[in-house]
Amino acid sequence: MSPPASAEPPREQASAEPSGPFAEPTGSPASAEPPGSFAEPTGPPGPFAEPTGPPGPFAELTGQDAVVAQLRRASAAATAVLAGERPEPGAMTHAWLFTGPPGSGRSVAARAFAAALLCPSGGCGHCPSCLQVQAGTHADLLLVRPEGLSYGVKQTRDLVLRAAGAPASGRWQVVVFEDADRCTEQAANALLKAIEEPTPRTVWLLCAPSAEDLVPTIRSRCRVVTLVVPSSAAVAKVLMTRDGIEPAAALAAARAAQGHVGRARRLALDASAAARRADVLRVPLAAVSLGPALSAAASLVRTAEDEAKAVTEELDEPERESLRRAFGEGSTGKGVAKAMRGMAGAMKDLEDRQKSRATRVKRDMLDQALLDLAVFYRDVLMLQVGADVELANGDRSADLQSVAAASTPESTLRRLQAIMGCRERLTLNVAPLLAVEDMTLSLVKG
Ligand SMILES: [Zn+2]
Repeated sequence: MSPPASAEPPREQASAEPSGPFAEPTGSPASAEPPGSFAEPTGPPGPFAEPTGPPGPFAELTGQDAVVAQLRRASAAATAVLAGERPEPGAMTHAWLFTGPPGSGRSVAARAFAAALLCPSGGCGHCPSCLQVQAGTHADLLLVRPEGLSYGVKQTRDLVLRAAGAPASGRWQVVVFEDADRCTEQAANALLKAIEEPTPRTVWLLCAPSAEDLVPTIRSRCRVVTLVVPSSAAVAKVLMTRDGIEPAAALAAARAAQGHVGRARRLALDASAAARRADVLRVPLAAVSLGPALSAAASLVRTAEDEAKAVTEELDEPERESLRRAFGEGSTGKGVAKAMRGMAGAMKDLEDRQKSRATRVKRDMLDQALLDLAVFYRDVLMLQVGADVELANGDRSADLQSVAAASTPESTLRRLQAIMGCRERLTLNVAPLLAVEDMTLSLVKG
């Protein structure tokens, strides 16, 4: 069996990082530089520090001590380069790949690193630069996500051009490239070219679930940073200190979210997210006879669609509105008719992109529901074999007990396989309702 949160095997470090401003000095390895120059910074805590006052967004990098130490050393080396001093050899490089399962904080880590690189004090957490990074408005920070299902070649080429510009702050131009695994082949080629021939002041921070999700040519040119899934206790601590959630609720949400800080927060604070999870977890109890099982399947798909619709509608209308404004809708005068024809084309492009984004969000939501279901059966299996582990669905122990008592470990394994098979089929574009119904039939059979 392979539980959804299984750890990635350790992978080899990148080996083919090209030369650039951060290249190791040849001939003089680690020479006379006193070690004190890379000592832990004293003074105000940086973006990676434990929150003391009001906690910032970086407080979410919980349980990632090794990564935080590595990024601190890198940003100190980057500051040394700017000051014309000798950087710690090998500490900094211009292309990074942040990997880790969803929710482990890939993009949070990338943003915290960006803050440290862009801040004149190496990431103080409170200067204008740090605040702009937090708000996503820093002139030298490009935060990008795929516009539709994947990065297209045009979006990527435009980005590469923008990233090659000189930094306005005189420090670095930082690109946080989320979901780097969602590049089309042509987009990956455009990206590869940018990373192969680095602009001296540009730093690429790619994010992907695992290093294997990227083509080897890109992977080998990045320094890989692997985030771990934080413990439930660490996630609960963030919810308590940052969001003021009371301890028992924080811990239950942290367990249910399996180390995903953002999702744990939604489960604790958003009643409709909690209700949707409850819907999903009704499926195992309904999977005793055909009728209830099929209606549970239909409601599972509908819930995912509703959730996706709520998410995308919030994004769609402001985008259409700003496009209309850009084309000056409502104005009159010479050339307006022509401009309006131009707008129709641009609007069609935008709507196509919104449509494919909606498809992606719908797929992600359904996948999340299936993972919740798989984790439920994982808990059932743990009960059946008497394993002494923390249950993700400890808040539903009566349900877990009743399913565990009514089935065998073998049938739980078959059910888990059915769920994983359904996830696989959905990535192959099988109609969602069909795939989920087939899965439900397998759950009933046991
Ligand atoms: Zn700062």
